[in-house]
Amino acid sequence: MIRVPPVARSPVSFMTYLARACLSGMLACLVAQIACGAAPAKELAVTIDDLDINSDDTPRLDLDQRDQAILSALRREHIKAALFVCGMRVDNDAGRRHVAAWNQEGHIIANHTYSHFDYPEVGYQAFSQDALRGEQIVSGYSGFQKLLRFPYLKEGATVEQRDQMRQFMTAHGYRNGYVTIDASEWAIDERMRKRLAGHPDADLSAYRDFYLEHMLSRADYYDTLARQVLHRPIRHTVLIHANLLAALYLPDLLTAFKSHGWKLIDAQQAYQDPVFSKTPDTAPAGESLVWALAKASGKFDAVLRYPAEDSVYEDKRMDALGL
Ligand SMILES: [Zn+2]
Repeated sequence: MIRVPPVARSPVSFMTYLARACLSGMLACLVAQIACGAAPAKELAVTIDDLDINSDDTPRLDLDQRDQAILSALRREHIKAALFVCGMRVDNDAGRRHVAAWNQEGHIIANHTYSHFDYPEVGYQAFSQDALRGEQIVSGYSGFQKLLRFPYLKEGATVEQRDQMRQFMTAHGYRNGYVTIDASEWAIDERMRKRLAGHPDADLSAYRDFYLEHMLSRADYYDTLARQVLHRPIRHTVLIHANLLAALYLPDLLTAFKSHGWKLIDAQQAYQDPVFSKTPDTAPAGESLVWALAKASGKFDAVLRYPAEDSVYEDKRMDALGL
């Protein structure tokens, strides 16, 4: 006897059958996720570079206020970031006080070199010595971890140069403080401060809106690319500079991430993802780790731009918006 499949009975009952099947499938997935403690779909940790990238004074908020604003945005979300310290920017009493405040709140204190050299430009000797000089500035803090972030995310122009620093990091116990979600928010900050310099009372909401949209779009771009390259979701590290833009709008940005399905996690948790021990075979080396892995796979050459992020990609739209 041939069993009549549900589809042959009637369109209505087939739809009901489908709906039930989907619902039970969804429930099964949900139960499995809870049972296995599976990670939610999109996770990111905040990493902050270049405390403090702006000069001492900016309109609206002074150095202390900017620092406090960024710290309190993180505190409000109960997340611990990684702070990549550029030594020369904090090598004074005020700078040391600020790093100490970050340390006290439990954020990772990491090395972003002393002089913020462009590695391909200065070469291995100067760059590696400068990384050690940067270490002296941060190594005394209890939250110090041997994570090294390359300025401009440039890790070597050639295979030889890239591998020299990889060997240096291994020899000195360092891991690469990779960024997976890169962006050009620094360019928005630049424009906003320029506007404020001429118009102290300017309405900044358009800068805020562009910032949120830009960061969300870069986050989704790198998340989609990561899933295509690695065939799984990864824990992301987003790069945000310590600047006036972040001081004013980091709370809004973190809220926006959450409302777009992102779970905010600690940097410590993010860096445990095995993706961060990868060493992509690319030259020039660097950019977002996700970009580099995509590049190394050889499968995305048609869609990958170089550099991966830069103000030139955003200028036209910011011009059009009058930013
Ligand atoms: Zn930097």
